[in-house]
Amino acid sequence: MSNMIHLYNSLSKQKIAFTPLHADEVGLYSCGPTVYHYAHIGNLRSYIFQDVLKRTLRANGYKVRHVMNITDVGHLTDDGDDGEDKMEKGSAREGKTAWDVAQFYTDAFYADIAQLNIIEPTIWSKATDHIPEQIAMVEKLTEKGHTYQTEDGIYFDTTSIDDYGKLVDVDKQELQAGVRVDMGGKKNPHDFALWKFTRAGETRQMEWDAFMRKGFPGWHIECSAMAQKYLGDQFDIHCGGIDHKPVHHTNEIAQTEASTGKKPSVQVWMHNEFLVLQGEEKMSKSGDNFMTLSKITEDGIPPLAYRYYLLQAHYRKQLAYSTEALQGAAQGLKTLKRLVAAIPDRSPGDLTVTEAFMQAVNDDLNTPEALAVLFTALKRGSVSKEQVMQFDKILGLDLLKQSIVNIPDDVQVLVDKRAAARTKKDFALSDALRDEIATHGFSVKDGSNGQEITPA
Ligand code: AMP
Ligand code: ZN
Repeated sequence: MSNMIHLYNSLSKQKIAFTPLHADEVGLYSCGPTVYHYAHIGNLRSYIFQDVLKRTLRANGYKVRHVMNITDVGHLTDDGDDGEDKMEKGSAREGKTAWDVAQFYTDAFYADIAQLNIIEPTIWSKATDHIPEQIAMVEKLTEKGHTYQTEDGIYFDTTSIDDYGKLVDVDKQELQAGVRVDMGGKKNPHDFALWKFTRAGETRQMEWDAFMRKGFPGWHIECSAMAQKYLGDQFDIHCGGIDHKPVHHTNEIAQTEASTGKKPSVQVWMHNEFLVLQGEEKMSKSGDNFMTLSKITEDGIPPLAYRYYLLQAHYRKQLAYSTEALQGAAQGLKTLKRLVAAIPDRSPGDLTVTEAFMQAVNDDLNTPEALAVLFTALKRGSVSKEQVMQFDKILGLDLLKQSIVNIPDDVQVLVDKRAAARTKKDFALSDALRDEIATHGFSVKDGSNGQEITPA
C-alpha cells in the first residue's frame, strides 16, 4: 500500500484511497452530542475515533474544516419520529428549563473532550441556532415535491427518490428491522418527519412559528442543513456511530441529495463500532450501565488512559468494556511513557519507524498496529524523542509530558479525582484534594493545559 490515506467508506463498503474534493482542505462533519445528559464513554469513543481521523489528515498535510453539531432540539427517544423529546425529558428530570439543560450538558461535553485531548472542531453548530436554515431546506424539499403534510408534521416521501436506503445493505422494507413501525398518517413505513407540529394541548419549551403552526425540526434535518451551510452541497467525510447508519444518516442522505440534486452529498461515510458492556449489553444513560468519564476518573483512571484503551482497538471493531481492561490500559500507558522518558536525548531514531507508523495510521486508522510499531521501536532503541513527538500529534496521549511519570500512584489518583471535581465545578472538593496532595509533597497549579503538578 502506498502511503496515501486509505479509509473504509461505509457507503461503497470498501477501503478507498482518499483524495479531498478541494486541493488542500478536507470538509469533515461529525454528528455531535444530544445534550440532555452527560455523554457516556461509548459516545466518547465516537469522538476519539474522529479526533484520530482529523489528526491523521493533518499529519498528511491537509487542513481540516471540521463541523460538529450540538443537538439541542428535535431528537426523540426512539431516534425516529416517536417517543419523548430528549430535551423535554432532561428538563423534567432535572427541574430546569430545556435551554438550561442544553447549556449545562454542552459545557460538560466540552470539559470531557478537553480531558481526552480531543481537538475542538473548527465550527460548533447548535441546532437551535439554525432553525431558519432547517425551515428553508424543508421548503425546498416541498417545492421539489418530496414532502407531504399530516396532522403530525411534514414528512419526507421516501418513494419520491429511487435510491433511498443505499447506505444500508438490506431490502427497503427491512431497513429498520425490529423497529415497530407505527404508520400514523405516514404513507410509507420509512417516511420520516422533517418538521413536527406541536400537538393541540401540548406545551413545549422549544417551538417555532413555521408552516402556519407552532412546531419544531425533526432530528435528521438539522445535520443536513448545517452540513450544507458550512461545508457545501458536497463534501468529503461524514462520521458518526454505527447506530446512525440505518435511520439518521440514511435520512440525511435522502433529504440532502433530494434538495440539491447532487450526488453523492458525502464522499466518504465513516462509522465507529460500539463500545459495549460484557455480553454485548448496551451502554445506557441511566442506571449502572451509565459510565461517564467523571465516573472512571473518580475511580482513579486518568482520562488519557481511556483514550489509550480505545486506541488499542480498531475503531471498526466492537469493543467490550471492562474495568480490568481499563486498569490494564492505565498501566500500559504508564509503561509507554516510562519507555519514552528513557529515550536518550540525542538518540537519532530510525526513519523506517516513521514510515511504518504512518503506514499503519494511513491504513484506515490502524492505531493498534501503530502502537505496536512504537512499542517495538522503543524496545529496540530505534526511535527518537522527536519521532515520538510527531506520533503523539496523532495519538494525542501526551507521551512526552513527564509530570505523570514522576508522580506516585496514590498521588495520581488524587490528581485525577481533582480533575473530575473541577469538571463538575465542585471547588470545595477540588481545594480539599489540593491540600491532600500537598501532604504528599506535591503542589498543584491550574494552567491552560489542566493541572500542573510539581514537587513542593
Ligand atoms: P448521541 O449523543 O446519542 O447522539 O450519540 C453521540 C455519538 O455516539 C453518535 O455518533 C453515536 O452513534 C455514538 N454512540 C452511541 N452509543 C455508542 C457506543 N456505545 N459506542 C460507540 N459509539 C456510540
Ligand atoms: Zn447527525
